[in-house]
Amino acid sequence: MKKIIFIVIDGIGDRPIAKLNNLTPLESAYTPNMDFLAKNGICGIMNVLKEGIAPHSDEGHLTLFGYDLKKYYHGRGPLEALGLGLKLNQGDVALRANLGTVDKNLIVKDRRAGRIETTGPFVKLFNGIKIENVKFMLKAGTSHRAVVVMRGNGLSDKISGSDPRQEEKKVLRIRALDNSREAKFTAFVLNKFLELSYKKFQNLSLNEKRIKEGKLPGNYWLVRGAGHYKKIPSFKEMYNRKACCIAGGGLYKGLGAIAGMKVLNVKGATGTPNTNIKAKFLAAKKNLKKYDFVFVHIKGTDVFGHDNNPEGKKQFIEKIDKELPVIMNDVLITITADHSTPCENKDHSADPVPVLIYSKNIKPDSIEKFGESYCKKGSLGIIQGKDYMKKVISLAK
Ligand code: ZN
Ligand code: ZN
Repeated sequence: MKKIIFIVIDGIGDRPIAKLNNLTPLESAYTPNMDFLAKNGICGIMNVLKEGIAPHSDEGHLTLFGYDLKKYYHGRGPLEALGLGLKLNQGDVALRANLGTVDKNLIVKDRRAGRIETTGPFVKLFNGIKIENVKFMLKAGTSHRAVVVMRGNGLSDKISGSDPRQEEKKVLRIRALDNSREAKFTAFVLNKFLELSYKKFQNLSLNEKRIKEGKLPGNYWLVRGAGHYKKIPSFKEMYNRKACCIAGGGLYKGLGAIAGMKVLNVKGATGTPNTNIKAKFLAAKKNLKKYDFVFVHIKGTDVFGHDNNPEGKKQFIEKIDKELPVIMNDVLITITADHSTPCENKDHSADPVPVLIYSKNIKPDSIEKFGESYCKKGSLGIIQGKDYMKKVISLAK
């Protein structure tokens, strides 16, 4: 059985762009290594969720890994919490949080508290507190981000968030999203927590210091994305392959963690366009000795798509391509995306994503280059995200 390197280039799929001679960023990029893999492997395009549906990254990845979302997707919060290295128990409810700035009428002035460097000292104030027998655990993410985990009996993730998602709007009260006692109780406890934290934030020396320095105080937790943690079958149980995960962004580490992959910490992997791609591929190569399946996530392309920066996206793809040779050995390599993020759309779209699968023993099709319009004619045809992992595993046999 061949070892597998499974590369997800987040949001790589795009549309023809006039500035790029009516090519997509991928097609216009100089990518001799991806082209070699395409030429000597097989290509196709993929509807990750369903034709016409634009996937979120978490749904996209779980589907690519072969998990049925209806059964195994339980919200974004737990994935973010796992990605920060928190150990979750069955039934925990987790939410993503921003530390924001509100005025005395609870109007949001800044959703990121003036791009605060870290929420570390703020998180510490609440870690382990109990309200109505529900224990709160918080952990700082990058800059203004954090996660809030609630642990206790009778909790539900059918609750709304406090984040109005816009500045100059009032923070929202947490509401139960169904009629269950659990949802009402969870909303009640979380509202209490938010009131308590707002109070604590008022006279905090940390905030007084920030105000003196002309910075915005961090004084409200803007929470969203509630989900409950439930163990799902591991990648090993599903495919009998020992898997590891190489990613910079917290969400992607969380996706690896929930699938039971060993999440590796690679120095320089940031989950942003300044990530160290070389370090990630070197780590992939090194860990092939220990693991049968290496998931490598690269985020930058999605960021350039959201920013409508086709030139940046193109150059970033070239940077990835340049580092590919270190892993181009006797392994199966597959490259695809969790969704397209067309620059003109500045968001995820339902456009299918290009796919390539390369291994020395695969009979190549006639595709010579890796790109959206070329892959359409590949021998994989149009595949569905849910069938992709099965295909990859069977080709590695
Ligand atoms: Zn994505
Ligand atoms: Zn995105």
